[in-house]
Amino acid sequence: MMQKICPRCGSRNVKWIIPQNWSQWVCYDCDYTGPIIEGNQDLAEEIHENYVESQKHEK
Ligand SMILES: [Zn+2]
Repeated sequence: MMQKICPRCGSRNVKWIIPQNWSQWVCYDCDYTGPIIEGNQDLAEEIHENYVESQKHEK
């Protein structure tokens, strides 16, 4: 099953904020704004793992 996911952190806690601009979404978990991607649960988990890893390296 395809679902909308944040391309940055893999969260599904995303919302379409600007009706005039379909590509503008916001993620409530990482404050990402921009185009969203669609994927299955596996993709969401993969992105989330990469995001957690990159957060570690930033600190
Ligand atoms: Zn996010």
